[in-house]
Amino acid sequence: MNILVINAGSSSLKYQLIDMTKHEVMAKGLCERIGIEGSNIQHTNVAKDTKTKIEKPMKDHGDAIQMVIHALVDEEHGVIKSMDEIGAVGHRVVHGAESFADSCIIDAKVKEALEMCVPLAPLHNPPNIIGIEACEKIMPGVPQVGVFDTAFHQTMPPKAFMYALPYDLYEKDRIRKYGFHGTSHKYVSQKAAEFLGKDISELKIITCHLGNGSSISAVDGGKCVDTSMGFTPLDGVVMGTRTGSMDPAVVTYLINKEGMSGEEVDKLMNKQSGVFGISGVSSDFRDLTAAAAEGNDRAQLALDMFFYSVKKFIGAYTAAMGGVDAIVFTAGIGENDARTRAAIVDGLEFMGIAIDPEKNAARGTVDISADGASVKTLVIPTNEELMIAIDTQRLVEG
Ligand code: ADP
Repeated sequence: MNILVINAGSSSLKYQLIDMTKHEVMAKGLCERIGIEGSNIQHTNVAKDTKTKIEKPMKDHGDAIQMVIHALVDEEHGVIKSMDEIGAVGHRVVHGAESFADSCIIDAKVKEALEMCVPLAPLHNPPNIIGIEACEKIMPGVPQVGVFDTAFHQTMPPKAFMYALPYDLYEKDRIRKYGFHGTSHKYVSQKAAEFLGKDISELKIITCHLGNGSSISAVDGGKCVDTSMGFTPLDGVVMGTRTGSMDPAVVTYLINKEGMSGEEVDKLMNKQSGVFGISGVSSDFRDLTAAAAEGNDRAQLALDMFFYSVKKFIGAYTAAMGGVDAIVFTAGIGENDARTRAAIVDGLEFMGIAIDPEKNAARGTVDISADGASVKTLVIPTNEELMIAIDTQRLVEG
């Protein structure tokens, strides 16, 4: 079966067509500037290793999906003969709230529940829903599956997901920790168990998804028991431009003392903070490392704050699970930045966590643990699209 994976944003749409017999990407691409001037599709035929860019007006996501289908069946750049070769479509959906603890086949009832989740993710869920509706129209009869960033975290117990606010705010507004990057945490924790040749039910794993946005999860026996992002992706570790956890009273202080609006504080905490806000240099770890090497103290401080915040979550989640068997690093920073991995686990030898500098320099799926370390430290490249496709196939094939 070939599965089309769709990640629809407000003015963009990313796609991959995956051959599930081999778990291989056949084609992938991106539609940009949907609904605005300069719409274009960038399409890659993976087997031929060809990339094409076509500029064509796309007034909405329906037009974008049409363009994707055209590209996929195109004689020169396509990978399939007709749309009939698409067995199902898997959609990334950011927020599934408490309604979705697993991926699911989309029907009228599910769409109603998706609409109910919109207030929790007003920027992300509406384009996800538009993407689903566009596919339903253009590919009638092809099963559509929703895969939620929040679903994997729905196994957290109340003591982990509740905030100590008055209880009626939870009942009325569903204010609680949801967690994000769930598809990635699920994928790499499953891959870690496979790699170690163990049943996931026997393992306590801490997954560190470190990218522009970062989150850490405690995965006990294959189930998420805690995660660092919260009601929104702002919480947890220091990130590229997000603060991560801090005293929430800073918000009221900024409003009262600086006269900032709620919207301004929101922008400050999400877009102008994190390692970018501290360093004043960049949110990209390559730039920060280069600046720190040239003696920029604030770049070094930003990096140190990041390392420290991740290290603390590793300690906290080891305590939460009563031990840890494996630490997994993934995403842009986790997969590529050996120095950051080393700095995070530095000093954790007392917990049995230590990495080998030579192994740490390798790329791909690799065990970087030092000889004799009782905890395995692994690097596992994430693949959210493949996880979406695997879930889609599982549901469609029953
Ligand atoms: P997103 O959260 O946007 O999906 P990614 O997971 O792609 O982000 O991570 C992007 C970040 O990964 C970049 O901002 C950069 O800090 C980091 N990164 C990517 N490659 C490297 C590298 N070779 N060395 C250090 N950091 C890297």
